[in-house]
Amino acid sequence: MALLNRVKGLKKINIFQEILLKASGMKEVVSLAVGDNPGPIPKLVIEELIEEAKSFGTIEGHKGYPPEEGLVALKGLINEVFYSGRFSPEEIFISDGIKTDLFRLQTLFGPSAVSSYFAPGYPTYKEGCEIIGAKTVPIYLDPEKGFVPEVDRVVPFDVFYLCSPNNPTGIAMDKDQIEAMIDKARTYEGLIVHDACYSPYIQTNKPKTIFLNDEALKFAVELGSFSKWAAFSGIRLSWAVIPKEVKFRDGSSLLKAYTGFLNATYNGVSWLSQKMGCTLLKNTNLFFNQIDSTMQRVQQMKELFQLKGFEVYGGVDGPYFLVKTRVDFLQKFKILTLPLTSFETDYEGFIRVSGFISEKNWQIVTSRLQNSF
Ligand code: PLP
Repeated sequence: MALLNRVKGLKKINIFQEILLKASGMKEVVSLAVGDNPGPIPKLVIEELIEEAKSFGTIEGHKGYPPEEGLVALKGLINEVFYSGRFSPEEIFISDGIKTDLFRLQTLFGPSAVSSYFAPGYPTYKEGCEIIGAKTVPIYLDPEKGFVPEVDRVVPFDVFYLCSPNNPTGIAMDKDQIEAMIDKARTYEGLIVHDACYSPYIQTNKPKTIFLNDEALKFAVELGSFSKWAAFSGIRLSWAVIPKEVKFRDGSSLLKAYTGFLNATYNGVSWLSQKMGCTLLKNTNLFFNQIDSTMQRVQQMKELFQLKGFEVYGGVDGPYFLVKTRVDFLQKFKILTLPLTSFETDYEGFIRVSGFISEKNWQIVTSRLQNSF
C-alpha cells in the first residue's frame, strides 16, 4: 500500500506536546503553556461516574452500545443550558471531542471545499484539511490591530472555521463581527463552523453562540466541548449543533448527510462520560465556579505581565492571552510558555500564556517574575 503524500509530512506529535518536550529534561519548570484545565472535577460528578461504572458490573445495569447520536437526556440539557431550548434533539449530536468533530466535518466536506480560518488558530483547521487534500486560506490576524479579527479581509470560502473566543489569542468577536461573518457566509454560499470550545469563558456581553439570528441557522454549525470549562479533556465529551435549515448548494440537507455519515462511521460516546455530563449540566453552579476562578487567575496573570511593562493582548473573554516579548522565559525563569510561532511561523516575538495553572504553580511564577525586569 502506498502512503498518501499529504500525510507523509505530518509530525508524530502536536505543537503542544512538542513544547512540553522542550522542558522535559529540566528541573523545577513551571508551565504556562498548557491549555488544559488542571481540574479537579466536582465530587458530585465523580460520584455519578462511580455509580454508572458499578451498574456495568450487574446483569440488570449493564448496557451495550450507546445511541450513536448521543443520549437524549444530555442533548436536552445542552439545549436548555446553552441554547434556551431552541433546537430539536435531532439537531444536537454528542461526540468525544471537537477535534474529532472537526475532522469528521472536514472528511464529509471533502477535498474540493475551500476552507478558511483566522490565523493563528487551532491547528486542526489547517492540518485536517491538508490531510484530506482540501485547500486552506488563512486570514492572518494583525498584531498592529491588536489581533482583532478583521471580517472585511475575509475572502470567498466554502467552509470557515471560526473560533470565538479564539485560541491562541483569547479574543472573542462582538455581535457586529459575528453578524458580519454570517453575511459573508450568505454572500459566498459558504458555511461557518463555529468552534465554541471556550465560549462559556466570555466575561463581557459578547455572544457565546453563533446562532444570533435566523440567518445563522442557515449558514452555521456550532461545536461545543466539556474539555476546558468542565476539565473533561481526559473524560472526552462534546457536542455538535447542526441546524435543520443548513443546506448544501444543491439544496440537500447537511443534517441528513451528517446523520448518515455519523451512523456509518461512529459508535457513540461512552455512557460514563455522557452521564457525568448530565450531572454537571443539572448543577451549572459547579462549572460556573470553575470558570470564574480561571478567569480571575487570567486577570491576575495579565496584571503581573503588564506591571512588568509587557504589552498584552486578549485574556478578557478567554483563558489565554498573548504577550509581546523576546525574553526566553524558560532559560531565564524556568517558566515554559508557548511561542506564537508554534501556531504560525510569521509571529516571532509573541508568546501565548495560559490561565490553566494551579494555585501552587501560580505562586511560583509570581515569585520568579516579581523581582525581575
Ligand atoms: N478547539 C480549540 C480551539 C481548542 O483549543 C481545543 C483544544 O485545545 C479543541 C478544539 C479540542 O477540543 P476537544 O478536547 O473537545 O477535542
